[in-house]
Order: sequence, then C-alpha cells, then structure tokens
Amino acid sequence: MPRRHPRRPVARHAGVPRVDAGLERERRARAACAAKDRYETESEARAMSLMHVPGRGNRSVAYQCPVCGGWHLTSPRP
Ligand SMILES: [Zn+2]
Repeated sequence: MPRRHPRRPVARHAGVPRVDAGLERERRARAACAAKDRYETESEARAMSLMHVPGRGNRSVAYQCPVCGGWHLTSPRP
C-alpha cells in the first residue's frame, strides 16, 4: 500500500557526514554567541536569569559558551 510521505526538497542533506552536523552546531553556537548577552561567570548569568524571569517556571538556563568562553542564557521557547 502506497504511503504518502511528502518528500523534502533538501534530499542532499541525507548523505551529509557527521562532521557537518558538528559544523552546523558550531555555526549555531556562534550565532547565539553574537546575539546573546555575555556574562563573566555562571553566577552572574544566573542572577540575570532570575531577575528577568520572575518565577514562571520558564526560567532560562545558564551555560558556558564554547565560542567565547563566557556564559549565556538559553531562551526557552514553547
Ligand atoms: Zn559566547
């Protein structure tokens, strides 16, 4: 029985080696780094997080940036 899965036009991504996945991740990390505020320490980032998101359970998480070595906050999305 025929299934009707729509084909994605980006078929060339199918055979992409894992190295590219790593590159893509790095590219994203750099974009995030450029777009986000940078904090010197984890505690500073956390303090900011607490200030900006007053207890809605949707709190952003601090992580150390592999690009700049500083700390950023993730922006949680629904
Ligand atoms: Zn960074």
